[in-house]
Amino acid sequence: MSVICPLCRGPLARQPKVWRCTQGHSFDVAREGYVNLLPVQHKKSRDPGDDALMVMARRAFLEADHYRPLRDALLAQVAPLAANTLLDIGCGEGYYTGAFADALPEVIGVDIARSAVRMAARRYPGLTWLVASGAHLPLADASVDVITNVFTQLHVGEMQRVLRPDGHLLVVSPAARHLWTLREQLFDDVRAHQPDKFLATLEAGFTLLDWHEVSAPLQLSPPALQQLLQMTPYAWKARPEKRQALVAFDLFETEAVFSLMRFTRRPD
Ligand SMILES: [Zn+2]
Repeated sequence: MSVICPLCRGPLARQPKVWRCTQGHSFDVAREGYVNLLPVQHKKSRDPGDDALMVMARRAFLEADHYRPLRDALLAQVAPLAANTLLDIGCGEGYYTGAFADALPEVIGVDIARSAVRMAARRYPGLTWLVASGAHLPLADASVDVITNVFTQLHVGEMQRVLRPDGHLLVVSPAARHLWTLREQLFDDVRAHQPDKFLATLEAGFTLLDWHEVSAPLQLSPPALQQLLQMTPYAWKARPEKRQALVAFDLFETEAVFSLMRFTRRPD
């Protein structure tokens, strides 16, 4: 998989301390081993992406393996593909990305949140970690065998461009009853998630091969429940007294249910 310059889109030569294109643009390799390829003009804010508190909560929650069934299900789909290169878009602090490194020779994690990528690079050295936007991927056309997209916005055109023809795309989104009892506690009116709403957007370039649900029963201690709330953006929309009421639980039981779809890229 070849990384390209985000400014002129020429190939980037990777050296230990700096990556350079032939036009003279250069990008330092950070102490932690990641590279920031997000040009200033692609940033919507000074430090875009998930904030540091959210990233830390997610790291703690995921490291406790609450979502392990999803990681195992993803690995079970990726391993038989016997692919060389995998791109994880919206990799966050690398919980899923790091696991893929056991199944493929080359794994790249991309996220717009620098704090998350820095954490990922520290925890999982040896992979390629890039700060970049999924809307402007710094990767050459048709250079990736597998793309994974876990709970991240889908940029269909860019995924189509970087994935090789017949390459695979795995998309994880919340299934209808994801965290249902938690959402019942938070909101008066709980609506089912609609994982199939993504299908129409992807239809132009991808063919759905299979689709199944993965569930993870959760028994959450008060700190784990707080981490889950912290990493779940919609929880902040709940009224404060509803959030506060959750403190009363010694052990909160709910179930995470994920929709896991596998697509293949349609030939041009
Ligand atoms: Zn350049």
